[in-house]
Amino acid sequence: MDLCTYHSHCDFCDGKAPAEDFVKATIEAGFHSYGISSHSPLPFETRWSLSKRNVEAYLMEIKRLREKYAGQIELYGGMEIDYLNDDWGPAVEYFQRLPLDYRIGSVHLVTEEQTGEMMDMDGKFEDFRENLRLVFHDDLKCLVKAYFKASSRMVELGGFDFVAHLDKISMNGSLMDSTLTEQEWYNRLLWDYMSLIAEKGVMVEVNTKAYTRKGMMFPNVKYFKWLKELNIPVMVNSDAHLPQLINDNRALAFEWLREVGIKSTMRLHQGAWVEVPIDNK
Ligand SMILES: [Zn+2]
Ligand SMILES: [Zn+2]
Repeated sequence: MDLCTYHSHCDFCDGKAPAEDFVKATIEAGFHSYGISSHSPLPFETRWSLSKRNVEAYLMEIKRLREKYAGQIELYGGMEIDYLNDDWGPAVEYFQRLPLDYRIGSVHLVTEEQTGEMMDMDGKFEDFRENLRLVFHDDLKCLVKAYFKASSRMVELGGFDFVAHLDKISMNGSLMDSTLTEQEWYNRLLWDYMSLIAEKGVMVEVNTKAYTRKGMMFPNVKYFKWLKELNIPVMVNSDAHLPQLINDNRALAFEWLREVGIKSTMRLHQGAWVEVPIDNK
């Protein structure tokens, strides 16, 4: 079993334990490598993102852990960078200059074009429903379109290694309308987005975080066949916020990747992304 994850949180953002607790848990579980990827700073303070003034301490802590646990695990310092607009996202100079081992491109906050107002499409459904009403006037299709438009723009601008939870909008979106992922317009938007990802040559994660509680992986398992069809390099990440969840649902994700004929996943080895055959795990 090829054990690694490159999407994880700790108490520098909204993770529920210090980074060291996660590192210890991964060593105990037999991981060969682990990437820490706190939520990037935003132009405003939130409860869930790294504060800009803590970025240096964050990088120092990763360096300290890398040295302390050298020989036991390959440790990497990443960041889940929020794309907001052309002025704030993985491609901007601030994030490009940070000494990170890799960058994750991620959209959580979606802007309504007319008003410039922003809403968090992740998180609790009650908040989502309220924000959908306030910011997008209950127009789910409009929000979903804005989400994929922002995501596509992020991919066009580049500057990151892999896309986080590429269809996360379907988590709350499907609670709003259970037929969302069956609708033709939705599938067309997703296909176009994944085609763009393939064209730009970025990697995609299979995010297993919500599977235990919500029965969903991102991308949704039914789109794994598109990953195969478009030949997009994938990795499996747990997006853990608790040390005991670092390996949650990993085996299941591999089983389903194998089922659609995907033969390899990506990992970091000595600082470079390499392809590892699934059969050898
Ligand atoms: Zn995320
Ligand atoms: Zn995350």
